Amino acid sequence: MTRLATSPVTLAAAVAQRPSEGSVHSWDLSTGVDGPGTRFVTFLSGCPLSCLYCHNPDTWRMRDGKRTSADDVIAEASKYVRFISASGGGATVSGGEPLLQPVFTGELLHRMKHELGLHTALDTSGFLGARATDALLRDTDLVLLDIKSWDPETYRKVTGRPLKPTLDFARRLAELGQDVHVRFVLVPGLTDDPADVEGVAAFAGGLGNVSRVDVLPFHKLGEVKWQALGMPFALHDTPSPAPDQVAAVREVFRSHGLHAV
Ligand code: SF4
Repeated sequence: MTRLATSPVTLAAAVAQRPSEGSVHSWDLSTGVDGPGTRFVTFLSGCPLSCLYCHNPDTWRMRDGKRTSADDVIAEASKYVRFISASGGGATVSGGEPLLQPVFTGELLHRMKHELGLHTALDTSGFLGARATDALLRDTDLVLLDIKSWDPETYRKVTGRPLKPTLDFARRLAELGQDVHVRFVLVPGLTDDPADVEGVAAFAGGLGNVSRVDVLPFHKLGEVKWQALGMPFALHDTPSPAPDQVAAVREVFRSHGLHAV
């Protein structure tokens, strides 16, 4: 007799194996800004922050992304594995904020690492770091962590959210010995207060697991996206920092034993 009924255990296993879907904005190959080498970068939709200098405000709303299966993302990335590997690169899950979709993000990282054999990176603000399971972090070779300010008031002004979850996540990554690159966007008149820079640098230097700091000069290339969305760009009149100001900030990070670029 053919048995049509599926046992609960079999059903649970089937559900667990079913590839998840997520809200995806886009994917791209990039070199230089999303981790080492050439990367296959998946940009997920949805972000709980609203950074004044965001380059990608079109990723903010999860409902604006395209429902996409992990299978489809992995199939696309698989086309570039040889090229990516030859460059010393890998796969980066970015956004938006990838930890807004922690199950999907975890599946992408797991499959990029174990099916495709790629180095994996998670690009996050850390605000939702508590949603990253230990398993997800085990599948993550590198965390690209934005620390947007040391001063809680400035952080809230920049992002609309509190700073503490990001610092908590950074400390957890340090306890796990996870490789981290810290990213700090230098905005004149906003994040360039010497005490603010010193605070981020001292904190990052004290963690012991930060292998690189990217000091990113503010620029306005994303302003056209704000305009296209009909949103006012609050930093319209803010200049980019001068090269010597950027160099001085990098020196502050270096004074704490960090490799700052
Ligand atoms: S965390 Fe990133 S994606 Fe989200 S608002 Fe800030 S810069 Fe934009």
